[in-house]
Amino acid sequence: SASAASLQDGLVVASHGRHCVVEVLGGDRVICHPRGKKLTVVVGDRVRWQPSQDEGTIEQIVPRRNLFFRQDEIRTKSFAANLDQVLILVAAEPEFSEHQLARALIAAEAEHIEPIIVLNKADLGDQFLHGWSRLEPYRAMGYAVLPLAAKPGVIPSEVSGAPNMTGDGLSALTERLHGRTTLILGPSGAGKSTLINRLIPGATAQTQEISQALNSGKHTTTTTSWYWMDEARSTALIDSPGFQEFGLRQIDPMQLAAYMPDIRPHVPECRFYNCTHMHEPGCGVIAALNDNSQPEKIAAARYRIYTTLFEELKAGLAWG
Ligand code: GDP
Ligand code: ZN
Repeated sequence: SASAASLQDGLVVASHGRHCVVEVLGGDRVICHPRGKKLTVVVGDRVRWQPSQDEGTIEQIVPRRNLFFRQDEIRTKSFAANLDQVLILVAAEPEFSEHQLARALIAAEAEHIEPIIVLNKADLGDQFLHGWSRLEPYRAMGYAVLPLAAKPGVIPSEVSGAPNMTGDGLSALTERLHGRTTLILGPSGAGKSTLINRLIPGATAQTQEISQALNSGKHTTTTTSWYWMDEARSTALIDSPGFQEFGLRQIDPMQLAAYMPDIRPHVPECRFYNCTHMHEPGCGVIAALNDNSQPEKIAAARYRIYTTLFEELKAGLAWG
């Protein structure tokens, strides 16, 4: 293998199986191939690579701070690394799935990353307020929830009870992104492309270009993309398609309760140290669920999410 002296540092900004795009400090981009079949690089990886003619070979991946997964019908695949935060974009319309939202939040917690929930389409009046109230429990759990009107020109509604919002909410959001690397996730129709193109004009077109270059004329598949938001290249957005497929398979089911801020505080109240909170006597979680005091300690819907995910994770581990 190459001598360490000739290796260069780079950042993976796109990855298509055995091809990827590596960006060097000055901003130049090079197509690289990982050395050997065992080396799987993902967007966000810091790598050391060896130039050869006008392409390169990736020799090493710098140890990752975190790694995110996605699951297709066949297997779990990693797709992004070294994130600072995850922005989960949902909208007043189409109505979001709380189960999907919970999955994304748990994936972020499991990788020790701060999630931000953004509710888009603040111009939709009552529908927006309905979405906002569905997110109230998540605010109570301590998550940041921001209102947004991503579509240019729409007027955020002033229906009474609407959250305090400055303008379209874009500058409050931009402030949270500053200096960080943020993965944007969201169900289709929530306004993810609208938001990305608002933050980085021409972003979508730019991605298609890279995709086409990598696939060299083949059918262009949508893939994970990296965008710089500033000239200084300190603020980055990572866009990845798919929300439902957001992977949880690598999570130990016994750790699941620790990643749900409403369930977590009741775990020390369980009689058994290895309580699964599914059926055990003396379970603090089940006691909190059945407690009728207001506000409720654990909402029935959240407990259902817990049990569904627990079974899913257990089955995943059983298959290996
Ligand atoms: P994506 O599937 O998440 O990428 O969603 P798009 O960005 O394609 O947006 C889906 C639809 O929602 C489009 O018709 C957008 O114009 C619309 N949309 C996006 N943001 C807003 C918003 O703030 N308000 C309203 N009313 N519509 C929006
Ligand atoms: Zn328990």
